[in-house]
Amino acid sequence: SWGSFTDKATYDWSSEEEEPDGRARPIQVLVVKEDHTFELDEAALSRILLAEEVHNREVVAISVAGAFRKGKSFLMDFMLRYMYSQASEEWLGEAEEPLTGFSWRGGSERETTGIQIWSEVFLVDKPDGRKVAVLLMDTQGTFDSQSTLRDSATVFALSTMISSMQVYNISQNVQEDDLQHLQLFTEYGRLAMEETFLKPFQSMIFLVRDWSFPYEFGYGQEGGMKFLEKRLKISENQHEELQNVRKHIHSCFTNISCFLMPHPGLKVATNPNFDGRLKEIDREFINNLQILVPWLLSPKNLDVKEINGSNITCRGLLEYFKAYIKIYQG
Ligand code: GDP
Ligand code: MG
Repeated sequence: SWGSFTDKATYDWSSEEEEPDGRARPIQVLVVKEDHTFELDEAALSRILLAEEVHNREVVAISVAGAFRKGKSFLMDFMLRYMYSQASEEWLGEAEEPLTGFSWRGGSERETTGIQIWSEVFLVDKPDGRKVAVLLMDTQGTFDSQSTLRDSATVFALSTMISSMQVYNISQNVQEDDLQHLQLFTEYGRLAMEETFLKPFQSMIFLVRDWSFPYEFGYGQEGGMKFLEKRLKISENQHEELQNVRKHIHSCFTNISCFLMPHPGLKVATNPNFDGRLKEIDREFINNLQILVPWLLSPKNLDVKEINGSNITCRGLLEYFKAYIKIYQG
């Protein structure tokens, strides 16, 4: 049977965080400001990670990272549905139910480079009897100029270091610049790690959206793995930097995988009034969503965050978060 997601953490919202309806929502915990400095909302992060029910629990930290407007929030809203439905068979929801969650503010969502955390930490029973705390993070950046690229790389490195699973959300294909960005993230991360810790990163999942060559590599993880293997192959005529990222990526992450997602259909991609209802999403996309989300989040697949071989609790994660930020603040 599925584990139970019964106990939910409750929060003591401070005045500026208070929601009139008291509902869970994304909280911006890390912001990169215009002058390229980092601002960590330690109070908000503490409220989430030090809540009575979760602070001593081992933590599973799942980050979805990537550029803006590539369907991250859309996916994360389905991840939330799965978490809230307690992994039931009917987690996908009703055909005409609008999506809510990370995208709940729709068009007014500010495009801030940084990290948002879902204010509710989920307690999940793993099949081995352990109860773990699951944290969902949305990591986003922009890659259009030298300075925003550097900021984004730093934020990505940070989220990779504090997560047990990094889902790298990319559009259409794994392009050379996606790998270059990854090279940059991992360089930043390794630099920081070298100073304090021996082990680099845990799981990296390349999530390719709008994959349009299913006849070459099929949708899902099997096609994804074959595709990634080919994409990460090292060849003589590649730029040295790209040879390096290919060489290093395997030494950086304990697990690397890839999932190819189909296009969700024109209503999702182009209709400004689309509110996320299943009825208007292509069947092929929904079928793959039903494979992807449990693959990422089913209780047996949740991996606790490890640093230097030790399991980390929510309280520990808060300390690492603060320590890593300090490294980048120099
Ligand atoms: P985010 O900025 O990465 O969080 O992107 P959003 O989730 O807010 O989605 C941006 C836009 O892309 C919205 O209009 C979505 O309806 C649409 N969208 C969501 N998923 C996909 C997808 O897989 N492919 C395409 N082409 N569009 C998508
Ligand atoms: Mg978003």
